[in-house]
Amino acid sequence: MKSPPFEYVRARSVDEACELLSSHGEGAKLIAGGQSLVPMMAFRLLRPSWLIDVNEIAALKFVDAQPDMVRIGAGTRQCVLAKDATLARLLPLVRQALAWVGHVQTRNRGTIGGSLVHADPSAELPLAAQVLGAQMKLRSKSGQRTLAADQFFSGPMMTGIRLNECLDEIHWPVWQDARVGSAFQEVSRRHGDFAIVGAAAQVAVDESGRCTRVAFGIGGAGPAPLAFPKLAARLVGTSLDADAVQSAVHDAAAELEPGTDTHATAAYRRHLARVLAARVLRSAYESARGGA
Ligand SMILES: Cc1cc2nc3c(=O)[nH]c(=O)nc-3n(C[C@H](O)[C@H](O)[C@H](O)COP(=O)(O)OP(=O)(O)OC[C@H]3O[C@@H](n4cnc5c(N)ncnc54)[C@H](O)[C@@H]3O)c2cc1C
Repeated sequence: MKSPPFEYVRARSVDEACELLSSHGEGAKLIAGGQSLVPMMAFRLLRPSWLIDVNEIAALKFVDAQPDMVRIGAGTRQCVLAKDATLARLLPLVRQALAWVGHVQTRNRGTIGGSLVHADPSAELPLAAQVLGAQMKLRSKSGQRTLAADQFFSGPMMTGIRLNECLDEIHWPVWQDARVGSAFQEVSRRHGDFAIVGAAAQVAVDESGRCTRVAFGIGGAGPAPLAFPKLAARLVGTSLDADAVQSAVHDAAAELEPGTDTHATAAYRRHLARVLAARVLRSAYESARGGA
């Protein structure tokens, strides 16, 4: 099916995009890579009257790496991020997540901001943002504000972004610990499909192999990707032995609200969540120890 008719305008700056969002009102939508928006329009799930193209806005495309934080412009293409060596060093989890996002062709057009705002519950980048505690910087005609990932993702394809706001940049905290490891795994029917369930973890250890920091999360098993900071804190001071991991992933799975659909039952999703969360925790731990 083809999308319903719409008007099109190209914004040259974030200010102009915000001005256009404000003047065209509810029916206006920003378009970045179009990899989610265009299919949604073709399926008639969305019928924007105006598309405001942000692809030509150079100020939305950048990676600024500081020792404690990486700022990424929302319009940066996924393929650029996947090849960025500094990002791979400072935010290995983002690199690992990107490898699972769609296909080379979709990553060539798809942007990091488009993926975060689209907020598919199974999407990899929102899960990485939850686990690492990323902050979304939002701009509108009337000013700017910042939302932490756990406030940003509010439900299936729902976020805290307002209709008149543009996601400007994403701030990713960098773990500066000496020994850090991370891992991302998912199960999907075919490579490149959306995950049935995905899991991500990042772990820091001391010289003796005890965890000094732990973060993990699960996507595809509820309305939005979830991180489990309280359960992760329980693992600090352990060597991620099997009992500690099993107890944490069991409790994490109990917090999930998986649904049943044509791809998987709720019970299978919960099972996958437990198995994958345990695997990424162990794998992140081994990687952190390997870096010692
Ligand atoms: C075959 C196929 C397979 C795919 N597989 C996966 C997958 O496995 N995992 C996955 O995560 N994704 C997958 N996708 C989705 C897609 O590739 C992108 O990851 C992403 O969801 C969309 O990014 P985009 O830049 O194309 O955004 P668009 O489609 O242009 O926009 C998506 C939404 O974000 C909004 N938006 C975009 N930029 C901004 C901004 N700066 N500020 C405010 N709002 C903004 C738009 O208004 C729209 O609501 C797949 C897509 C296809 C076609």
